[in-house]
Amino acid sequence: MTSAAAKKAVEATLETIKQRVPAYQELADRFGPMFLYKADLLDRLAAMAPPPPAVDGSKFAAGAPVLAGVDLATWLPLFQESARALLPRLFSILRLDKAAGEALAALFVDPPLILGLAQARIEGNWKHFENTSAQLDAVPASVLLFVSESVFSPALTVIADSLGTPLSSHSWNQSLCPVCGSAPSIAFLSFKEPNDLDHLVSGGGKKFLHCSLCGHDWRIKRNECSVCGNDDSETREIMTVDGVNHERVEACHKCGSYCLSIDMRECDPAPQLDVAQIGLIHLDMHARKNKLTPITLTLWNSFD
Ligand SMILES: [Zn+2]
Ligand SMILES: [Zn+2]
Repeated sequence: MTSAAAKKAVEATLETIKQRVPAYQELADRFGPMFLYKADLLDRLAAMAPPPPAVDGSKFAAGAPVLAGVDLATWLPLFQESARALLPRLFSILRLDKAAGEALAALFVDPPLILGLAQARIEGNWKHFENTSAQLDAVPASVLLFVSESVFSPALTVIADSLGTPLSSHSWNQSLCPVCGSAPSIAFLSFKEPNDLDHLVSGGGKKFLHCSLCGHDWRIKRNECSVCGNDDSETREIMTVDGVNHERVEACHKCGSYCLSIDMRECDPAPQLDVAQIGLIHLDMHARKNKLTPITLTLWNSFD
């Protein structure tokens, strides 16, 4: 996606959130610019990007995401450019003190340290963030993780975008992202057919998961829990709040997890899915009241 299209989608989604639920205005005003800065970077990073990584059909069929085991040094210039552009803005949005800002700035100019964080994030090695945070002193692990994800995600989005066509010829039935291996942050029912694999004429409604890190969307079975694969309708539940039926909590009482889900057929224009989550915190609260655990922790569902 181009920067212009991405920014337009972010702006429209922020506007919708603020108009619909004034209580979210402050959050949308504070964090909205971060999504715009990230969108702004996409064109620049795409122009710098090396050719996309090859999709190893047999590894992929065995369930390994494209970036598993790949040397991320290839994309170091993109991570560095992203850090250069985003860090000062992130420090201000997160209201970090001077010591924390300086410690993080020093970390993100050191190539082996940047690559270590990127590798750890791809591998889900949370211990690496705790250890690095312990050495920094002034930066909690949760902040280090959030800043790292913010810096890496635009570069990974560029990689994911470049893999769209190569990936379309492979099937993938897993609940983790086929590109970067991260958990999804939200699900959606499609607005219209993105492909014609089933040779069906359809008005959409196919279920996709949206990656919490690279933003890639991949199709999964509609009637299964995205965490444990439970397809028993007795133990799965769709919850809505205040009569808004197209924004839902998809709950699984077998594994106790939930995933937010948007029915795009009821949305015009389609929301930007990372931004839309700011406007769905009431659904996260509803799920939490029902003792459910989110499919992945985000800034928006890990409130106290
Ligand atoms: Zn991903
Ligand atoms: Zn489940």
